[in-house]
Amino acid sequence: MNRNTVDRTTASPLISVVVPFFNEEPAIEQFFRQLADALEGIEAEWEIVCVDDGSRDHTLQYLVAEARANPRVKVLELSRNFGKESALTAGIEAATGDVLVLIDADLQDPPSLIGQMLARWREGYDVVYGVRQSRDHDSLGKRITANGFYRLFNRLTPTPVPANAGDFRLMDRRVADRLRELPERTRFMKGLFAWVGFKSTAIAYHRPGREAGQSAWSYWKLWNFALDGLTSFSTMPLRVWTYVGLGVSVLSFLYATFLIFRTLVAGVDLPGYASLMVVILFLGGIQLISLGVIGEYLGRVFIEVKQRPVYLVDRIYHFAPSDPETPDGES
Ligand code: UDP
Ligand code: MG
Repeated sequence: MNRNTVDRTTASPLISVVVPFFNEEPAIEQFFRQLADALEGIEAEWEIVCVDDGSRDHTLQYLVAEARANPRVKVLELSRNFGKESALTAGIEAATGDVLVLIDADLQDPPSLIGQMLARWREGYDVVYGVRQSRDHDSLGKRITANGFYRLFNRLTPTPVPANAGDFRLMDRRVADRLRELPERTRFMKGLFAWVGFKSTAIAYHRPGREAGQSAWSYWKLWNFALDGLTSFSTMPLRVWTYVGLGVSVLSFLYATFLIFRTLVAGVDLPGYASLMVVILFLGGIQLISLGVIGEYLGRVFIEVKQRPVYLVDRIYHFAPSDPETPDGES
């Protein structure tokens, strides 16, 4: 079947629902129930690709039981916790569907929206992403920092990320294939989604609080996530130092001219300790900051050139309908 020419209004596509799991035991049953309900209501074939991102509770056991009971459920067990971005990458690479849906396991992304997303896909959109209408469930601090991040990111990069869009989205197989071809190891998914482009549309939804458990994102993690995002998609922080240096040089030159002129007119003037200290400390600070920025990029170049895989799969659990005992693939 040539996927580009298929008539989407009548096609019955295979939907791959990709779900990353990290310590999601408390609400996992409810999640599967809601997801199955949502998928049963859709006229399409489906599979669920679960990625266990090194959970330390019983998430994996539950997922394997689910896979055993339902041959449409496939489970990838990663060898350790690689982080959500890597888990999503693993899921996207394992999904075989004509349409992929990325969804969180904590029920913050309502599965009931998948039907609407698919309807937009049938209209011809390749990417349908969820945009949260409100962030009432986030703390004020998180809202302010998130807002600030999007504004900064979108000023610095040529491929803006829609504000308040998460990873909850549907995408066509062609988009997923292009994503898979991107070679970088630092998988800042929001940025990568924006970079690949394609005909996209948004669906607004109300994002509830977590059903159970707690978010794995501390402020420190979020800060590092933001740094990853900015440094993978913008070289502005590197280049800005050229202009800062230029500005400081011009000012120094003017000041030097003034000093020379004053010495010629008024003679040698010994006191000057305070101004010297200020200049030295100020320039020292600027130099350290710029070195730090170079270090940030150098560290990332280092990670990229090592060419390590983005994730490692320990086992794959996928049971054939007739044979509920042995996994059909282990690696
Ligand atoms: N997640 C993951 N690996 C991690 C952290 C989170 O696979 O290291 C999964 C998690 O199980 C959930 C999704 O990513 O399905 C979103 O995580 P979380 O709810 O902690 O993020 P938030 O909703 O606060 O952005
Ligand atoms: Mg969440």
